[in-house]
Amino acid sequence: MAAALALLLASAAPTLAEDGAGEAHRVPPAIVAPLLDWVGRHTGQPGLVPPVIIASRQALRRLDRTAQLAGTDERLRAAYVPGVVILDSDTWSPADPVELSYLVHELVHHAQQLAGRGGECRGRREEEAYRLQNLWLAEQGLPPEHDPAWIARAADLC
Ligand SMILES: [Zn+2]
Repeated sequence: MAAALALLLASAAPTLAEDGAGEAHRVPPAIVAPLLDWVGRHTGQPGLVPPVIIASRQALRRLDRTAQLAGTDERLRAAYVPGVVILDSDTWSPADPVELSYLVHELVHHAQQLAGRGGECRGRREEEAYRLQNLWLAEQGLPPEHDPAWIARAADLC
């Protein structure tokens, strides 16, 4: 994954400097801060150091191909690699609460990483991320993105 991350950052870096222009761009801290704060409260980790957050369809596609090689065929809408959240620049909008919920999900993985839980059973980490994503959506008055029964089963996939 380290090699894939290096590739991703190398491909995203040239356009990051343009900040908002072009295919890849960084998500402003003002959008991230309240979500990170929320995740910190719900994971018992206040004062989380934010990850780098970029919206890049190209970087996500590249990761998606790696995931498919690893046997996953669900299309990635967002991803987390240690220290970096990647969103889809084609669909990302801070005005869309469902897109924000994907960011919440990935910020939960960031909190897990900072707590030294990166090596923990993947199903358990996903269970927490999906559950908190649904909770955040519920607080916005929106229906869950994921079926609670399906989430509960995810915890057993270790
Ligand atoms: Zn996840």
